[in-house]
Amino acid sequence: MKRTGSRPRSRPRGQRASGRGRKTGPLDEYRRRRDFARTPEPAGRTRRRRGGLAFVIQKHDATRLHYDLRLEVDGVMKSWAVPKGPSLDPKVRRLAVQVEDHPIEYNRFEGTIPRGEYGAGTVMLWDRGTYEPDVERTGRSPEDVMRRMLRDGRIRIVLHGDRLRGSFTLVRTGAGTDGKPKWLLIKRRDEHASRTDVTRRYVTSVATGRTLDEIAAAGDGPPDGRRSASLTAGPSAPPAPARPTPARSVPEDPPAWTFEPWSGGEHVLAFAAADGARIVDSRGRDATRRHPGVATELADLARRIGHGFVVEGERRDDGRVLAITDLLVDGEANVADRPWTQRRRRLDALLRRRRLDRIRRVERFEDADAALARAARDGWPGVVARRRDATYHPGERTGDILRVTIPRPRGGR
Ligand code: MN
Repeated sequence: MKRTGSRPRSRPRGQRASGRGRKTGPLDEYRRRRDFARTPEPAGRTRRRRGGLAFVIQKHDATRLHYDLRLEVDGVMKSWAVPKGPSLDPKVRRLAVQVEDHPIEYNRFEGTIPRGEYGAGTVMLWDRGTYEPDVERTGRSPEDVMRRMLRDGRIRIVLHGDRLRGSFTLVRTGAGTDGKPKWLLIKRRDEHASRTDVTRRYVTSVATGRTLDEIAAAGDGPPDGRRSASLTAGPSAPPAPARPTPARSVPEDPPAWTFEPWSGGEHVLAFAAADGARIVDSRGRDATRRHPGVATELADLARRIGHGFVVEGERRDDGRVLAITDLLVDGEANVADRPWTQRRRRLDALLRRRRLDRIRRVERFEDADAALARAARDGWPGVVARRRDATYHPGERTGDILRVTIPRPRGGR
C-alpha cells in the first residue's frame, strides 16, 4: 500500500488537529519514533502559521549524511530525505525518500540528536524560507493545491530560500521495499537553474554560520537544561544582530521605551557554549578574534552557569569589553520571541552576582534625558532606545530599536 503523505485529511478547515480529544494525528509517527526526554528535538504540535508556507532544508549527519527537505502543508512539515541533497542542474534527478511528517517547530532545530536515539547525529539548518505551489492559481488555496499534488504524486513548487530559489519538481516514482514512498527531486528550468554544486558551495548553517563539526562540538544536549545549550536557530535566531534604526531624536512616547547610553561601538551577537564562544558582527561575519578576552570569559560563564546562551552586546574598548544589551537564547529556551522586558529580566538573572571582567550589563535608563546625559558625560555619540514590548528579529530593522545620536551643538561644550 502506498502511503502518500496525504493521509485522510479531508475534514473541513478548522476541524483539523486541535490536539484535544484527538485519537490520531499527522505527527503520531514522528512522536512514536522519539523519546523527548532524551532528544533535544521538539515534540511539536500541529499548527497554522501566518504568512507564506515555510520550507526548510536540514543537513543531517546521521548513519548516512543526507539533506531533509520539509514543506509546510496543513500545519505540519511534509518531509523527504534527500541522500545527495538538492541540485540546481535540471538534468540531475535526486532521490527523495518521503519520511514521517515533522512539526513546524522542527524548522528551528539545529543541534545533535543523542546516540541511540532515532536519527542520531548532527542537524544543521542548511536553508530556509517560504515556498508556493508553482501552478496557475485555480481559485484554490496554496494548501489545497499542495494536498492535491501530494496525492497525485507530482509536486511543483517555487522556493524562496536564502540559498535555493526557483522552481522545483518532486515526482513520486513508487514505494520502496520499506514502504517509504520514493520521489525524485528535480530543478526546473528557470533563471535560477545552474551547474553550481550548491551542497559544496554552502557548508555552514544558514542560521548560525556554524559547520557540522562546530554544531556537534557545541554539544547541544537533551532538554534537561544541564548540558550546554542548543544555540538553537530559526526565524528568531541569529545570523546577525537586529539592525537599529538611526534617529535624530528620542521617541515621542518615552514610556514605551527604555534607553541605554551608546559608546559608538558596533552591536554584535555572541554565542556562548561551555567549550567556546563565537562572536558575530553586525553583518553576520565571524568577529571572535576581534574579542579574544571576551570570548574566553563568555565560555567560562556558560560553563559556570551550566548551559549556553546567545546574547547581543555592544563592542567597547576596541573589543576588550562587551556590554551585554539583550538575551536571545538562554539554555534550551529561545526567548527572542518574547517581549524585551522579559528578556531583560532573564538577562539580569543570568548575569547577576557573577564576577565578570570583560562582560558587563549595559547601563539602562527609564528616562531618555538621563541616558543622554550619561552618554554626553563620556563624550559618547548617543543612546539606543528599545521598545519594551518588542520581540527580537535578528538581522532585521523593525523600528523597535533606535540609535539616537546627540546633535553636536547641543551635546556640550
Ligand atoms: Mn534526517
